[in-house]
Amino acid sequence: MKKTAKILVTLLVIAAMAFTLTACGGGSDKQQEEKIVFGTNAEFPPFEFVASEGVIGEFDGIDMAIADLIAKDNGMTAEISNMEFDSLLIALENGQVDAVIAGMTVTAERLEAVDFSTPYYLATQVMIVKEDSAIAKATDMADKKIAVIQGYTGEICVQDMGYSYTSFKKGTDAVMELVNGKADVVVIDSATASKYVSDNEGLKIVEDSEAFASEEYAIAVKKGNTELLDKINASIQKLLDEGTVAELADKYSVAE
Ligand code: GLN
Repeated sequence: MKKTAKILVTLLVIAAMAFTLTACGGGSDKQQEEKIVFGTNAEFPPFEFVASEGVIGEFDGIDMAIADLIAKDNGMTAEISNMEFDSLLIALENGQVDAVIAGMTVTAERLEAVDFSTPYYLATQVMIVKEDSAIAKATDMADKKIAVIQGYTGEICVQDMGYSYTSFKKGTDAVMELVNGKADVVVIDSATASKYVSDNEGLKIVEDSEAFASEEYAIAVKKGNTELLDKINASIQKLLDEGTVAELADKYSVAE
């Protein structure tokens, strides 16, 4: 009988251990909650691009470093979901991603669909042209072949100016069109333009501050997700106050 009691106790201990293990297994669900899934379009250097060794997996750039720091600041990890720029806000509304960080400009139209964080970077649209181009201001584009990237604020600007244009899926595609002489000008964000000009021979940047207003980059969250927005805003404020965003911009940007 004694032996049977021992066996019974042993079985109970094993059962208890199994229960504990299950409880631990349940813990991993909690871990899953402790990540922020950021949507991006890793075609926008120096803010997001694919590298052999990035700051989050293969994803590197100013935004990726900011996403990583925001997650860490809140005791969480950052995960990247890479998709087309046009799909980002839809993915946010569908709950596929928690936030969008993509060099995304705050616009009145986007504000109708999502909420934006405190802005972390100021940019403007510029024109990339061949070095010998006569284009010196935005109105010079009127009779020229203009290339833009689909869904970017550059496309909206050119649309508002009433000029016809061709839109491309990627910045590199638009720039190739210019390099190959099939387009005369690419309208795109300033820091990204600098990167393309430094990567390709024979191109230059033309600015026109009267034609192109300054733009603010911010992180988007689903409308009403104040819990995450408050966390993101508190972290962005720290990163701005400590000069971290400026340091990252220096680190990743190309000298003009
Ligand atoms: N700033 C531009 C926009 O918001 C381009 C952003 C991007 O390509 N990632 O449309």
